[in-house]
Amino acid sequence: MTEADFFGYNAHIIQEQTKSQRTTDGGKITVTPLNIVVKERAMKILEERILRDGKVQAGNVLKVGGFLNHLIDYQLLDEIGKEISALFCGQKITKILTIEASGIAIACAAAHYVCAPVLFAKKSKTINISSDCYCAEVYSFTHQVSKMIMVEKDFLTKDDKVLIVDDFLANGAAINGLMSLVEQAGAELVGCAVAIEKGFQGGGDTLRAKGINVQSLALIDSMDDDGHIVFRH
Ligand code: 5GP
Repeated sequence: MTEADFFGYNAHIIQEQTKSQRTTDGGKITVTPLNIVVKERAMKILEERILRDGKVQAGNVLKVGGFLNHLIDYQLLDEIGKEISALFCGQKITKILTIEASGIAIACAAAHYVCAPVLFAKKSKTINISSDCYCAEVYSFTHQVSKMIMVEKDFLTKDDKVLIVDDFLANGAAINGLMSLVEQAGAELVGCAVAIEKGFQGGGDTLRAKGINVQSLALIDSMDDDGHIVFRH
């Protein structure tokens, strides 16, 4: 695939959708609110990209390494970041919290528009991390093992208003672990934003039932081994 193919696909949709922001009818100009345009656009781009380049693997795993979390399309990420920012507009977020490694790029894209620093939970203790950490145990859906995640106490405080961001939401273990870090710090959780939610695994709905503001840009209702993916709208 050439560079033009890789990015050109998204650029086409971005152009097309931007037109609907300002429409003229007999001299009357209608401007659709930017957050609606951004949301529709980001969702459409992401859904189309999942259908084109995503690969359904055994065990309910959707592989998106060709554009989201291995080889990264920074234009798509920028749209995702813009959308996350629009969804949590005016919430005075002071920190974006994510988990290494796949969440970091998306969190940075959102941080650019939210204007808040990114804090990522580490999955292993290195010599350069302080021993004074908030820790939580998280079962990894993709690695199928439990791991401790940690952030240094100095970087998350009771004065923080935190937005949790991740690439996927499946059973909710990663987000629950991150929420535990927020709670231990006495910080305020504003909400959670994920690029892709696999609705059929139930993690998102359980969090919403607890009153947490969970937003996903692409919500998959079902997918099968033949690669059929159905989105919830
Ligand atoms: P959960 O903890 O909600 O069960 O799963 C979310 C975490 O597992 C995310 O941090 C993500 O990295 C990983 N994950 C879950 N499902 C998938 C998937 O279908 N594809 C990929 N690439 N990662 C996933």
